[in-house]
Amino acid sequence: MQANIQEIFRSIQGEGLYAGAPAVFVRFSGCNLRCAYCDTKKSWRAAKHCLYQPVEFARHVVRVPNAVSAEDCADMIFWLSPQGLVSFTGGEPLLRAKYIAHVIQLLGANYTYLIETNGTLPAALKYLPNSPNIVYSIDLKNPKFLRFYKTVPPKSPKYIKIILEKNLSIEKTLQILNKIPMTGTPLFLQPVNNKIDKKELQKWMYFLEKNGYVYKVLPQIHKFARWK
Ligand code: SF4
Repeated sequence: MQANIQEIFRSIQGEGLYAGAPAVFVRFSGCNLRCAYCDTKKSWRAAKHCLYQPVEFARHVVRVPNAVSAEDCADMIFWLSPQGLVSFTGGEPLLRAKYIAHVIQLLGANYTYLIETNGTLPAALKYLPNSPNIVYSIDLKNPKFLRFYKTVPPKSPKYIKIILEKNLSIEKTLQILNKIPMTGTPLFLQPVNNKIDKKELQKWMYFLEKNGYVYKVLPQIHKFARWK
């Protein structure tokens, strides 16, 4: 089994529940959305080579011809870290759900696997095992979120990320949130490009609190720390 991968590297997770934790990142090519604020637009297209950084923060990269086999992907992850956190990202990683399942099977239970998804491909979840080692970071940016959230395998932890950008409606977001049981699900507000008008943020805080939600506002720490 093969997939087109943009890059594999080790760095510090900059977003959400695992912010600050060292992680191996596998960035897949391809996305089913076209968000105006996307900061990984280059991942929309297939890459000729997967850029593999064998040592974290080093300049040296190895250009591995695409497509990459699941076995080679697992080897590259293991070489970077024999345990710990692996973030599958993109693009949209669930376009490669079968491939991810195969990589997870090869690597086993020594890792926590984080799937950073736009929350629009619920049908892809059937390919992934119902495991507490697989964690879903789900963006709330599309009406398909509801079905996705409810389809996540029950043993897999999940958290929600709301990307705060000027076109996002507080009312519509609350309508969606109010339809799901939030018990124990962490909720993160992430200002797009780490910028938000304070009045706007105040509005979000007011409405979320009025509706009883517990949340954290978290910037993308890898951007201001200038980690990769
Ligand atoms: S879902 Fe993510 S990767 Fe896809 S276009 Fe939107 S921001 Fe970019």
